[in-house]
Amino acid sequence: MISLKNINKSYTTGSNSLHVLKGINLGIEKGELVSIMGSSGSGKSTLLNILGILDNYDQGEYFLDGTLMQNLNEKKAAYYRNKMLGFVFQSFNLISFKNAMENVALPLYYQNVARKKRNLIAMEYLDKMGLREWANHMPNELSGGQKQRLAIARALIGQPKVILADEPTGALDTTTSYEVMKILKEINESGITIILVTHEHDIAAMTNRIIWLKDGIIEKNIYNGDLKAFREENLRSGGIPKPQNHEIMI
Ligand code: ADP
Ligand code: MG
Repeated sequence: MISLKNINKSYTTGSNSLHVLKGINLGIEKGELVSIMGSSGSGKSTLLNILGILDNYDQGEYFLDGTLMQNLNEKKAAYYRNKMLGFVFQSFNLISFKNAMENVALPLYYQNVARKKRNLIAMEYLDKMGLREWANHMPNELSGGQKQRLAIARALIGQPKVILADEPTGALDTTTSYEVMKILKEINESGITIILVTHEHDIAAMTNRIIWLKDGIIEKNIYNGDLKAFREENLRSGGIPKPQNHEIMI
């Protein structure tokens, strides 16, 4: 589904250049549920933004479902984003002056689906997320978990092949985080590939593979069966920070 070959990316501000991704090689199969981990500043969001065709890369090749994503103009990038991808963010990115139904319907608005039809479809997705009764509420009337479920409904309405989630549980308490992960797992089981960035080990442990970024390269891939050994190794070496307020499960 996704193939990255020697992806390099630098940010230039003034006369300073920061080499953030230094040759990323990565394959992700259709139907995988993977997490990307690594310390702050290691390039996780940069990588996710490239995967989301939200940002360009300087060198290398990115194939999404067999198509090379390179030097796309904004129109083409938007076309592939709409056709292939759904996004979930830590801060939900809901539109504050639109109600829940309108937020979910938004991707269909961009696809020129008529209002009545898109609202009807939005209600279906709200229903799937257990939010039917909240259709007419504004985002600020919803809890964190409800907001994220709303954002997931919005990500799903375009029938994406891949969902990209940047710290989807980062703003949620533990119980709510697990609820959101349960939903993401169910979505994944329906065949949608999911790639999420997290710095929480228990969240990463709910995925099938951890892609570990360090200093702009992939240091290792850790498959679910190996997670326990990975945890023990890292706790011994102090290589991963201790969790703040909940037991790690890996
Ligand atoms: P992570 O998500 O792993 O914390 P990021 O991908 O956000 O890391 O950032 C990697 C590095 O690139 C950081 O040092 C960050 O400051 C820098 N960076 C990120 N975005 C930009 C940008 N738009 N312009 C300049 N530097 C950036
Ligand atoms: Mg980040």
